[in-house]
Amino acid sequence: MNGFEATRAWADAQDAADPLRRFRDEFHIPPHNGHETLYFCGNSLGLQPRGVRAAIEAELQDWSELAVEAHFRGRSPWMHYHEYVRDAMAEVVGAKPHEVVAMNTLGVNLHLMMVSFYRPTRERPAILMEAGAFPTDRYALESQVRFHGFDPATDLIEMQADGPGGTLSMDAIEAAIAEHGHRVALILLPGIQYRTGQVFDLNRIVECGHEKGCLVGFDLAHAAGNLPLTLHATGADFAVWCTYKYLNAGPGAVAGAFVHERHAHADVPRFAGWWGHDKSTRFQMGPQFVPTPGADGWQLSNPPILALAPLRASLDVFSRAGMPRLVEKSRRLTAYLDWLIRSRLDDVLDIVTPNDPAQRGAQLSVRVRAGRDAGRALFTYLESNGVIGDWREPDVIRLSPTPLYNRFADCLGAVDAIDAWRASHA
Ligand SMILES: *Cc1c(COP(=O)(O)O)cnc(C)c1O
Repeated sequence: MNGFEATRAWADAQDAADPLRRFRDEFHIPPHNGHETLYFCGNSLGLQPRGVRAAIEAELQDWSELAVEAHFRGRSPWMHYHEYVRDAMAEVVGAKPHEVVAMNTLGVNLHLMMVSFYRPTRERPAILMEAGAFPTDRYALESQVRFHGFDPATDLIEMQADGPGGTLSMDAIEAAIAEHGHRVALILLPGIQYRTGQVFDLNRIVECGHEKGCLVGFDLAHAAGNLPLTLHATGADFAVWCTYKYLNAGPGAVAGAFVHERHAHADVPRFAGWWGHDKSTRFQMGPQFVPTPGADGWQLSNPPILALAPLRASLDVFSRAGMPRLVEKSRRLTAYLDWLIRSRLDDVLDIVTPNDPAQRGAQLSVRVRAGRDAGRALFTYLESNGVIGDWREPDVIRLSPTPLYNRFADCLGAVDAIDAWRASHA
């Protein structure tokens, strides 16, 4: 038995005994009518770490006092600024430091990675992806297929959901790779499906894809800072992620990219820029591009210091908390919310996200059994009562208790609010 209890006393006792509880104090919790919001939206925009303001102000101050000299003489010399986030970012996604780089935004990185790792030929023109993917992923993939002169109708292969709640089974993925693999140049899948919250088996996908000669890339938007990732060990060719969701680096924050070390020195086509040029000769300003080895070689521009400062502050929190401890708490916290919903709201909500802890992260996606209109009504009710989740068309409410700042009491509070909504609509 899980030992869970649906009482405030029990939830408060869990929070008091939580070894990570002090991390909540490092975040700004948005207020609601004089109380703290119950914030379940870290899957969409993580809360602001308190350290962010000082991190930005330090750079503003160096800019005002040192101007161009801050590239060399700042407290954190700007010349090397992207390197300051590298180790912590690598730690979070389970990569070697030279395999990761913070640059651009997710969509941009996805395109830059495809320039190098989607090299379609007449015999092998296709991309294999999931149906119902996050729209930007489909737009990016489809536009790449067209860009190379191929036809998305035949060369963008979308695997249809075959499991409960619109999930996609590993069996279906294996079957699709077996059937289409010989003409697939690239397999692109998420770490976590944004609507259902389902986790994919990255190791198995890479194994199956490579066996058939396909390259494999992942979009880890919902996985980075949420799942225990071992990106290097999966053998994936590349991955991209944003940092404003579970990684709490702020709206539109600088994104991440991973290039497996087997490609570190590869002579692959790429779109080049001076910040990707060999570091030791970058400032000789020569006309020939010589890529710096590793993921850094895909950078285009000098890094946006004011946008990287929040990521640096946020990753500092992750370094101190540590992914293993965060994952352990996350599993219990989400299991508690799951248990509360199943035991108290079974007639109201259907949980779409797989029940198996290995197949989900923090997020639970729920549907209101009474249908879409009732779902919208519940979502609006929760919002106006200070319980913040998010709505995903056509009918899903996502609730994501995150281990850095959510409490067991928050989960109970959310379920109490849904209970109150049911009572008021009975
Ligand atoms: C959040 C998210 C995005 C957002 O892309 P941006 O380039 O950061 O706007 C893309 N893909 C997935 C799967 C996401 O979850």
